[in-house]
Amino acid sequence: MVVVMHPGATPADVEAVVARVERAGGSAFISRGVHRTIVGLVGDVIAFQGLNLRAMPGVVDVVRVSKPYKLVSREHHPDASVVTVGERGDVHIGPDTFVLIAGPCAVETAEQTFAAADMAVAAGATVLRGGAYKPRTSPYAFQGLGEKGLEILAEARERTGLPVVTEVVDPKDVEVVAHYADMLQIGTRNMQNFPLLQAVGAVRKPVMLKRGLTATYEEWLMAAEYIAQRGNLDIVLCERGIRTFETAIRNTLDVSAVPMVHALSHLPVVVDPSHSAGNRQLVVPLARAAIAAGADAVMVDVHADPTAALCDGPQALYGSELDELARACRDLPPIVRRTPG
Ligand code: PEP
Ligand code: MN
Repeated sequence: MVVVMHPGATPADVEAVVARVERAGGSAFISRGVHRTIVGLVGDVIAFQGLNLRAMPGVVDVVRVSKPYKLVSREHHPDASVVTVGERGDVHIGPDTFVLIAGPCAVETAEQTFAAADMAVAAGATVLRGGAYKPRTSPYAFQGLGEKGLEILAEARERTGLPVVTEVVDPKDVEVVAHYADMLQIGTRNMQNFPLLQAVGAVRKPVMLKRGLTATYEEWLMAAEYIAQRGNLDIVLCERGIRTFETAIRNTLDVSAVPMVHALSHLPVVVDPSHSAGNRQLVVPLARAAIAAGADAVMVDVHADPTAALCDGPQALYGSELDELARACRDLPPIVRRTPG
């Protein structure tokens, strides 16, 4: 069971809950987030139900959940959540809309980023992606521009009006990334970097949590729970392909994740066909499959000159493929009762 405290609850309110639980023979674990405090209860659920915790001062909700992930589960929150991105508050990732997120894999230069941002706008994207801190397999590969890259992204936002999502790889950079970005991305390699998850759980910006390369739905949702447990429930999940026995493609897009995770959790689900496939020829067909399966958003890599890209050039879309993608993002969402934009 989980006791969710009101943002204005006092320390005495929290202590009173803990004391009542302990008197009933249970243990209580307090998690003090920036926005709210959450008290996790361990012990006899039947005994806790008799404690009338919901009526105590400062208590908003008492959640009994059979799943190991609680705050992010559908059981706890039957309605699908809507995550709003950007200061203008006009991008909604949730059950009624369909959002296209596009941009370069990595921020390389201002000119390259602005050119990719223009391509994103032309395709109908309403969120700009781009990595400034790149988690590369090889230590010799381009690692990203760091804070300089964040500045370029902020400039691209000024020019286009699109809010920005960018990856953070180290807990010590969360503050600076949250300063510049509208949404923080946790990459597949960091899905179980628990200190990083806790750090983004403490900021007031939405988080996009990518699925680990070999993560089950439960492990993925437990990772999301780490963020939620710190008080940040503005989380979108991103399916980006998993490691399978197939070698013809870089990763296998798990389309089942979209309806299945929607059933297990109230959080929106985004699909990244670019990192799934690693090959631009597959990106548009996989994006179509994602939309048809009910994805709340699709995120793709674009580059004005993929042959010169410092990161993931083979999956970056050319203009003609982008036109195809734009068509799919306009035509398919209404079939699954979503409004593009
Ligand atoms: C990315 O989106 O830039 C990225 C590195 O993706 P992933 O973590 O899915 O590999
Ligand atoms: Mn990439």
